[in-house]
Amino acid sequence: MVERECGACGQCCKLIGVRELDKAPHVWCRYYRRGKGCEVYQVRPAGCGEFACDWLLDPRLGDDWRPDRSGFVLHAGEGGRVVNVELDPAQPNAWRRSPFEAVLRGWAREGSAEGMDVLIWIGRRCLRLLPGGGEIDLGVVRPAIEFTAHDRLRRPGSGRDWPA
Ligand code: SF4
Ligand code: SF4
Repeated sequence: MVERECGACGQCCKLIGVRELDKAPHVWCRYYRRGKGCEVYQVRPAGCGEFACDWLLDPRLGDDWRPDRSGFVLHAGEGGRVVNVELDPAQPNAWRRSPFEAVLRGWAREGSAEGMDVLIWIGRRCLRLLPGGGEIDLGVVRPAIEFTAHDRLRRPGSGRDWPA
């Protein structure tokens, strides 16, 4: 199998925080250069080197799911039980575009029997997709202190997550 590469993406360098750099989520890393990528790639923090979003890991997700094209980074949480859809707050409705919304709702519907949750993150605010359709707004559930500085943690399964 040919492994995917990030190419020109770099979306996680904006949307995911990096504790080693004290980089908050949803702001561009000071080392990211558009069109060139990571300026410190050879010595980037371990948290960066370990991170891989679900698009990178899962060949079933087509090219339109590459995070710089979709507008969100998919990453697993709780050992794969949770699918996190990490939106760029500059594009809070990107997940509703075709084909994303239908696929995400399909995952929520079909995964519910196994306890899977699909969570839509807009910064600290969370929407949970309901298996029968629709969603509930869980409100601002990310603590501010973890929002401003945290690891990019590797979790079993795929993807990385915020701390519990
Ligand atoms: S969001 Fe995914 S594809 Fe994009 S740079 Fe990060 S790991 Fe690579
Ligand atoms: S150090 Fe490099 S890989 Fe890590 S967030 Fe910054 S630009 Fe991205």
